[in-house]
Amino acid sequence: MATESYVLNVLEVIEETADAKSVVFEVPTDLQEAFAYTPGQFLTVAVPSDQTGLAARCYSLSSSPHSGRHQITVKRTADGYASNWICDHLKAGDTLRLLPPSGIFTPKDLNADLLLWGGGSGITPVISIARTALEKGSGKVVLFYANRDETSVIFADELRGLVAEHPDRFTVVHWLESVQGLPTGEGIKLFASYFADYTSFCCGPPPFMKAVATALKELDIPRERRHQEKFVSLGGNPFGEVEEVLAFQAKLAEVDDADEPEDAGPTVTAPVSLEVELDGQHYAFDDWDGTQVLLEFLESKGVDAPFSCREGNCSSCACIVLEGDLAMKHNDVLDADDLADGIRLTCQALPKTEVLKISYNG
Ligand SMILES: Cc1cc2nc3c(=O)[nH]c(=O)nc-3n(C[C@H](O)[C@H](O)[C@H](O)COP(=O)(O)OP(=O)(O)OC[C@H]3O[C@@H](n4cnc5c(N)ncnc54)[C@H](O)[C@@H]3O)c2cc1C
Repeated sequence: MATESYVLNVLEVIEETADAKSVVFEVPTDLQEAFAYTPGQFLTVAVPSDQTGLAARCYSLSSSPHSGRHQITVKRTADGYASNWICDHLKAGDTLRLLPPSGIFTPKDLNADLLLWGGGSGITPVISIARTALEKGSGKVVLFYANRDETSVIFADELRGLVAEHPDRFTVVHWLESVQGLPTGEGIKLFASYFADYTSFCCGPPPFMKAVATALKELDIPRERRHQEKFVSLGGNPFGEVEEVLAFQAKLAEVDDADEPEDAGPTVTAPVSLEVELDGQHYAFDDWDGTQVLLEFLESKGVDAPFSCREGNCSSCACIVLEGDLAMKHNDVLDADDLADGIRLTCQALPKTEVLKISYNG
């Protein structure tokens, strides 16, 4: 079973910089609910491919929900397939198959003071958070935005406009490698130290994210005020029902067979007593025997649990373990802090204890 995918019209393609384009989708009235989103969430796009049927890729929404727009911004990846296909081929009037918004990189409180970190294309979820917090919240917003040089700054005009509109609440610090060199760990830590009671959201290239994460940890910023989004390419295909990808799925299955699964550690096979909180609903089951991963078990019970990649590559299906423990077959996204906080990917989760209580409410 796959989550329902939808074909949407492309309303507009906007050239943001020489190597980044924004794509605006038309969401018809009957799909507005399915495509409702919170700032920082992403869409999953099926990019057509002659070789594989499609390449599934996640792209953060760079628009803000209150604008009524559904806009993603795609930066070319050197030698990448999907990003270059989008930048080279997509135009207004085309259609693309998409999965609805997903993801947990989103502020719980729009009134909080926010310290936003964007590196290159990592600005996309971050500007959505900034726009929304400035429009709908009341706190201060500080953005540290690192780029190679001035020509690679995406959304320079919008940021200028937002600062002009909210001079008492919004501060942008541009860091240009061409002028200042790469930001150093010490510099990042010093900058962050002025905003130690703010909530951080960070997205950018891995070395940048690592430097920010290290600085925030060294400053003892509590875990609940440190958030990061990793940009990785999905390896699999969450668009399972699309006819043209059947061949692709067969190919993936071969690859899966060939790959040794990661060791999930000892898991329980006796029926598990499982309680689940999801969207204000409470479910209880006593017959999960660990032969399926948690996501598949919940789907078999008719629970509309969130997911996207099904491969442990994204965090759409993440839950928090409130009681007991879950092992994961594979995990590309959660770090040691996430794991210590009890966050697990349900698409990879097997029971480690016979009593389990999980929540999707974060
Ligand atoms: C939550 C999330 C949000 C993201 N948000 C953004 C965003 O806002 N903006 C942004 O720019 N990026 C974003 N990304 C990253 C994005 O999803 C892609 O990883 C990025 O665009 C690189 O994809 P690519 O296909 O161009 O490059 P690669 O993934 O590096 O392309 C190479 C891959 O494509 C395969 N390939 C090569 N040729 C073909 C072919 N003909 N058919 C099929 N496959 C082929 C290769 O086998 C190889 O696996 C996000 C990622 C995540 C997880």
